[in-house]
Amino acid sequence: MNKQVVACASGDGIGPEIMAAVQRVLEAAGAPLEWRYVELGKLAYESGHSSGITPEAWETIRATKVLLKAPLTTPQGGGYKSVNVTLRKSLGLYANVRPCVAYAPFVATWHPKLDMVIIRENEEDLYAGIEHRQTDEVVQCLKLISRPGCEKIVRYAFEYARKNNRSKVTCMTKDNIMKLTDGLFRQVFEEISLEYLDVQTEHMIIDIGAARIADTPERFDVIVTSNLYGDIISDIAAQIAGSVGLAGSANIGEHGALFEAIHGSAPDIAGQDCANPSGLLQAAVQMLVHLNLPDTATLVHNAWLKTLEEGIHTQDIFRAETSGECVGTQAFADAVIARLGQVPVLLPSACYTEASEQEAPALITSALPRPKATKELVGVDVFLHWRGTCPEELALRLQKLGSARLKLVLLTNRGVKVWPDGFPETFCTDHWRCRFTAKGTKLIYHGDVLALLAGLDMASLDFIKTENLYEFDGIPGFALAQGQ
Ligand code: NAD
Repeated sequence: MNKQVVACASGDGIGPEIMAAVQRVLEAAGAPLEWRYVELGKLAYESGHSSGITPEAWETIRATKVLLKAPLTTPQGGGYKSVNVTLRKSLGLYANVRPCVAYAPFVATWHPKLDMVIIRENEEDLYAGIEHRQTDEVVQCLKLISRPGCEKIVRYAFEYARKNNRSKVTCMTKDNIMKLTDGLFRQVFEEISLEYLDVQTEHMIIDIGAARIADTPERFDVIVTSNLYGDIISDIAAQIAGSVGLAGSANIGEHGALFEAIHGSAPDIAGQDCANPSGLLQAAVQMLVHLNLPDTATLVHNAWLKTLEEGIHTQDIFRAETSGECVGTQAFADAVIARLGQVPVLLPSACYTEASEQEAPALITSALPRPKATKELVGVDVFLHWRGTCPEELALRLQKLGSARLKLVLLTNRGVKVWPDGFPETFCTDHWRCRFTAKGTKLIYHGDVLALLAGLDMASLDFIKTENLYEFDGIPGFALAQGQ
């Protein structure tokens, strides 16, 4: 069989130990793989690459399109970008797929029936990394949600459910508060669910959803959610399954895929041969499935389950009452190798079939056809850095500017309406949002906004940013203020 070329990063901390263990298992299982080593993380940062990725590494990853990555240490302090975020975003790895499974009674857990897959959008949301300090007192982070981004991840989740015989997809958002951003995610989920009537669907607000994951995780099957919520709930799910040392994850895109354990580089136990290589091994199994090597994936997965079942455990999951033998990283790998060809007796055995798992659905790139909306400029929000404390005083100054075509209709501070008719109890910072809409007519023009800004400048009012207020087909594309 021809070997498939795969990029490999041995990582930092426990990375090299667990990668060596995993590669030995894969080799013993006869996985037809040829490794191309790449330098990511600490060494790359130290050699002057602030992204933590050398140009040679980029070249190899682009050529192989598949990367097995051990955990990396992100240096503390400014100036360093997270390699993980850079890889995901630069390679367009939009879907993070994290299966979370309990291995009771062999690994202690309160939730023996837990078996869910969290599919997290990987590129957008607050992780766009667009942050600004705007005033002495206020910083902001932009939450960007796109329709194509929602369509890709939601469709991926439904396709995943179908291909893996999973019956339900739960969408989690906070659309009761973020009506436009999270509202779009939910709306796209509801639209696309109509194409998958064979799959049950439900929606939950993320806070109650997270609580239910912690309490009754067995009620979930596939969960699809946006980046930040997915990041948080996938760690909750992995932890309650038994250990963060057990789970792997796949990052899938149209141009490549990256497989890694969910845990970090664990510097506290590095070099001691005691780390659990299971998370990276699970990621490697996902990689084998992605490479369409289902037989090898099945062989490795079942040998691993049998090892767990026989109570051969690393120290992170070792419990005197349920485990048999406490072993180190390499001895654990040896135990898995010795069980290649065996299947678990009590735990459900794995059985992968050709092209069953994280294969990107064919339709994923084609966004649903939508007519272009009629977009009309109806106002502008101007954000000011103003050190005063009295909203009425600011309102008066703004009204005195006497813009020919715009009138002040609202002042908010941290999103809460403070003028007109604000509450005296509202705490105000130096960051003011001033909403202007057209006088008389409905529409305004960019020139009106520029004239307003020139007036603010003349009046020595420090505008820090503007947001145009548009209607799309007559529907406001902006949120009302709290209290409006
Ligand atoms: P961590 O996951 O490395 O460690 C948390 C705890 O879990 C530690 O006590 C550690 O000993 C234990 N642990 C983790 N993996 C284990 C394993 N395989 N076997 C046994 N015990 C294990 O999290 P952290 O300490 O917050 O982060 C350490 C470094 O890892 C940081 O620099 C962080 O930025 C980085 N990190 C990298 C990734 C990644 O590369 N994908 C993910 C998370 C954190």
